[in-house]
Amino acid sequence: MGGMLAVSAQEAPLIDPFGRAITYLRVSVTDRCDFRCVYCMAENMTFLPKAELLTLEELDRLCSAFVRQGVRKLRLTGGEPLVRRNIMWLIESLSRHLKTGALDELTLTTNGSQLARFADKLAEYGVKRINVSLDTLDPDKFVELTRWGKFDKVMDGLAAAKSAGLAIKINAVALRGVNDDETDRLIAWCGREGYDLTFIEVMPMGDIGGETRVDQYLPLSVLRADIEKRWTLTDLDYSTGGPARYVRVAETGRRIGFITPMTHNFCESCNRVRLTCTGTLYMCLGQEDAADLRAPLRASPDDDRPLDAAIAEAIGRKPKGHDFVIDRRRRQPAVGRHMSVTGG
Ligand code: SAM
Ligand code: SF4
Repeated sequence: MGGMLAVSAQEAPLIDPFGRAITYLRVSVTDRCDFRCVYCMAENMTFLPKAELLTLEELDRLCSAFVRQGVRKLRLTGGEPLVRRNIMWLIESLSRHLKTGALDELTLTTNGSQLARFADKLAEYGVKRINVSLDTLDPDKFVELTRWGKFDKVMDGLAAAKSAGLAIKINAVALRGVNDDETDRLIAWCGREGYDLTFIEVMPMGDIGGETRVDQYLPLSVLRADIEKRWTLTDLDYSTGGPARYVRVAETGRRIGFITPMTHNFCESCNRVRLTCTGTLYMCLGQEDAADLRAPLRASPDDDRPLDAAIAEAIGRKPKGHDFVIDRRRRQPAVGRHMSVTGG
């Protein structure tokens, strides 16, 4: 219950049944993407009909309701957030909460494909740091992994983000037999470029066609032990409010994060909930239970109270943790929806 006491009642915090203050909202602004990463999507995906999506104005109203109730950090994700039409309108609009001090951070997770177009605007609207997903520095492997991605475009996007002054963290999903031979190269490159780096364990979410995650899955405990043979790692207390545990690499001076939902239960300190582009709130990435916020949002356009009540009720149902398992007996994904629905 310590977390509960640490947050002032004035901020009207959303406290879940396990005493965790919910201060971080991730919003998947679209389920669509210009890539088809092999661990994330099947090549042929059926996306939501555009008519089912919340408008940007509705997303703004929903995000603002969470900010009003104590959320301090907003992350836009997807699908690819920067392919949503007019997304910069939403980012500019939400940036008002940074100006008032209601929000500590507005950020996004992106595949980098559109950054060359948008990096300057993001910086102008108060975005300070972004996560860019990049699993390999080998252009051929990049095409194999993303199926539709253009490596050079991502490199141009990263350069634009850097020159706009955005701090960059590279997210790499650890994939057995795919990019586990590139770890040193990624660490050294991030060191040279001035980027932090986070490794992520592959999670069993959504059907991805022929491949199975049993083949892709590489526990980060194994990866870390391997890295430690060549690099000097020191554990850090540092946290960005997300689930990663960080170390400092003495040789590069940069941080490496490990997101280990599979090998280490990261639910204990969970401060997050996830909103989809149709207004469904998932209280846990690894559970099916969800709350529909679209109905109260639309039922009372001029009165936020039903929406606020629906949010509070949903947080009151936040489960203790996920039940992800990857093993050979269980061939089905632990949750049916793809990561692109809730945005990771
Ligand atoms: N399109 C953006 C991107 O790729 O950064 C944002 C959405 S993407 C779903 C968010 C993050 O989830 C990416 O870093 C991606 O690598 C990761 N991801 C996708 N599917 C995953 C899975 N099954 N297991 C673990 N991470 C996954
Ligand atoms: Fe798209 Fe991101 Fe999923 Fe790759 S990981 S397919 S870029 S949503």
